[in-house]
Amino acid sequence: MRVTIHRGQNQIGGNCIEISSSQVRIILDIGDELPEINADKSERVIPDVPDLFLSSLDTEKPIDAIFISHMHGDHIGLINEIRKDIPVYMGKYAFRIWDVIREFTNQPKTHNPIHYVLNEKPVTIKDITVTPFLIDHSVFDAYSFLIESEGERIFYTGDFRCHGFAKKYTIAIQTNPLLKDIDTLLIEGTNLYKDEYIAKPEYDISKDAVDIMNNTSGNVFVLQSSANIARMQAIYNAAKQTKRILLVDIFTANILYGLPRILPNPFTFDDVFLFFPMALTEKAINEKPHLFKPFGKFKIATEELHNRRDMVILIRESMIYEVLKRIKTDGACLIYSKWNGHKEEYKTTQFLKNFEEVIDLHTSGHADISTIKEFVTALNPNTIIPIHTTRPEKYIELFGEKVKI
Ligand SMILES: [Zn+2]
Ligand SMILES: [Zn+2]
Repeated sequence: MRVTIHRGQNQIGGNCIEISSSQVRIILDIGDELPEINADKSERVIPDVPDLFLSSLDTEKPIDAIFISHMHGDHIGLINEIRKDIPVYMGKYAFRIWDVIREFTNQPKTHNPIHYVLNEKPVTIKDITVTPFLIDHSVFDAYSFLIESEGERIFYTGDFRCHGFAKKYTIAIQTNPLLKDIDTLLIEGTNLYKDEYIAKPEYDISKDAVDIMNNTSGNVFVLQSSANIARMQAIYNAAKQTKRILLVDIFTANILYGLPRILPNPFTFDDVFLFFPMALTEKAINEKPHLFKPFGKFKIATEELHNRRDMVILIRESMIYEVLKRIKTDGACLIYSKWNGHKEEYKTTQFLKNFEEVIDLHTSGHADISTIKEFVTALNPNTIIPIHTTRPEKYIELFGEKVKI
């Protein structure tokens, strides 16, 4: 097989990898560049891949399929730019989360044929077989892929870690005899720029959140991504332990509606409620009633929203009006639970100014160096190809001449 990294080799995000055999061309991820990377460019850059995008040139050998590892924009963000006849393979829940984001951000519906992948269930396309393996990451339903053809095996990690609630999946990959002595490992290295970094387990986030909630007399606001379901679980567990209720907004509720009911949600949990932020105005409610109407009965009573001081509220920058006008803030604190770099964004700086007490509580969605070492040792690849990193040469330092940049 031939591996072509169209984008993402020496930067974080914007992944687009092609794997081809004599008969087939498949693409792994169609990521948009992260805003930090794109900041210097005047417009969005679409990689030059024949037959893939609406703007691409045609060849005699079209793309057979696209496999998407997870729903972060730096892996799926170009989905509206691809040709409409190419089948897309991805996780069912990942697609549902993406679809809610798409609706709330007014993006067009995806018209490509979508096939849902299942953990360890191979998909064969002519002479290539792709087997998805669930893997731990900061979004729900993230996959890595084993690609086999012509007696050769390539493994692509996607984004991964081994310190979240889904770590059992990463461990299952490391102990799977079928994945030992792989030919080529395409592996992410987001955290390689921080030599000493040791990732804090998601369980510890929950423990620390318990302490914060116990030491706070008023409401606890949490600034986090609505797609980071593991973080929401960690925060919910802490809320439950400290006898607080969890409040999510209508956007987060729509995401949770499509996910398994064992996850905290306002529909089957009696200590989780939802509210409609003013930021999602009446206009949106009138234009897209299906995103709002079914959920009205799970709303917290207005009086309780205004007066309770025992709530944990998942919040975003756009909801500043709620903080100032509709929810009690005396004795309250804000848990900042996102990547620290976002603090430099204008909207976040402005938002944080409204809180007397801001407490940082976060862990990375990506593997630290010791996890990377364990993973590579377990799969024992012949060749290592780093991707999704600003420091690919660190892989050479760690693993020597097996590494091919
Ligand atoms: Zn990524
Ligand atoms: Zn990711």
